[in-house]
Amino acid sequence: MSFDFLIVGAGFAGSVLAERIASQLGKTCLVVERRNHIGGNAYDHHDRAGVLVHDYGPHYFRTNSQRIVDYLSQFTEWHPVEYKILSWTHGRFWQFPINLNTFEELIGRPSTTEEMEAQLAEWRVKIANPKNSEEVIVSQVGWKLYEMFFQNYTRKQWQRDARQLDPSVCGRIPIRTNRDDRYLSEKFQALPKNGYTSMFQKILSHPKIDVWLNTDYREVRQHVRFGHLIFTGPIDEYFDHCFGRLPYRSLRFEPETLPQEYFQPAMQVNYPNDHDFTRIVEIKHARGQKLPSTTIVREYPQNFGPGHEPYYPIPAPDAKALYSKYAERAALEKNVGFVGRLATYRYYNMDQIVGMALAEFNRLRISRQYQVSVAQPSMLSPAFL
Ligand code: FAD
Ligand code: UDP
Repeated sequence: MSFDFLIVGAGFAGSVLAERIASQLGKTCLVVERRNHIGGNAYDHHDRAGVLVHDYGPHYFRTNSQRIVDYLSQFTEWHPVEYKILSWTHGRFWQFPINLNTFEELIGRPSTTEEMEAQLAEWRVKIANPKNSEEVIVSQVGWKLYEMFFQNYTRKQWQRDARQLDPSVCGRIPIRTNRDDRYLSEKFQALPKNGYTSMFQKILSHPKIDVWLNTDYREVRQHVRFGHLIFTGPIDEYFDHCFGRLPYRSLRFEPETLPQEYFQPAMQVNYPNDHDFTRIVEIKHARGQKLPSTTIVREYPQNFGPGHEPYYPIPAPDAKALYSKYAERAALEKNVGFVGRLATYRYYNMDQIVGMALAEFNRLRISRQYQVSVAQPSMLSPAFL
């Protein structure tokens, strides 16, 4: 069997590239995916209770890029959502991320932006250029709030102290002195109207795209002829871990369906200091689905190893140093593109991955540096003639 492009992984990176290559270059693509579904970590489905659940943790789509919204809007309409969450610690719920409401909860009376700013200025640790995730938070809010909300959550999530992680990890979380209590700050915040999986079905529905599920690249690479490879799996796996295994953080998701309309007062509650799980997500809040029961998911961080998915590349200097050895090897590969969160070993959001895939497509289109497969008549089965 012969295809112009073999694409490994049916997540955002692989699916967007397949769509662009098929529709804009008219080339054939085989997408192989070792899971039994498309969508990568963004996969969602209706569970028995009818709740549209996110199987691999909550996926809150957000972006500042109109270009990315326009691109995805060819395949979906949107359900606008303002993602709101709470944190549970010291025996009560707190508004999170830290904002003026949180400050009022802390001091137990109404306050103002000016008062909060003055107080933070006193608590803040003076650090001009924060070099890690601990410094990034204490330089904004000081030790007390850091210890309440960040220190132990980060230990649970990463099994490392915040000071061993890049500033970008905790720096993702906004700190505000107004009443904006949204978890995220991007301009566009919405979920695909009929879910991610439905959007992926449309992205991949081009006649020049074949999708093989339950198929590992390592099993098919000998049997399929292709010109160019796009690899969106773990880069260390591609090179048979020749420099050693890259560290990843994994998760265990524990869903529970309950015979009540709602379980908790927000879509997500974080547990920085209690329990072994980091958060409970009740995604039903996001869409306001009217159903008599609900589904919650507890998220337990785990070590990565056999039987566990590599969910998070570790944003830390030691892991990056090892990755750069693989990146050097990757640069020498002919007719192979490494795209996506696992192949570039970066803690990227979905919109960033779409942007990366579109940029890779443009590079391929402009440079024309891709090899297309020339089908050998003898290799084509009658079904393909
Ligand atoms: P993936 O989605 O991981 O897709 C790669 C695919 O390749 C996988 O399906 C895998 O099975 C397949 N594959 C790997 N190796 C092989 C092989 N050898 N053969 C065949 N197939 C293979 N982003 C946001 O923007 N907002 C969020 O709220 C958000 N929440 C997240 C929560 C969690 C718990 C996690 C883990 C991630 C979250 N993300 C979020 C990030 C988001 O999941 C990623 O940015 C995005 O899914 C990356 O797309 P990708 O195509 O690079 O990788
Ligand atoms: N974080 C924290 N306390 C929280 C929420 C987040 O310390 O209540 C830190 C933690 O290190 C986490 C990072 O901020 O990994 C980014 O959080 P986010 O919710 O964006 O993580 P993701 O959804 O990507 O898992």
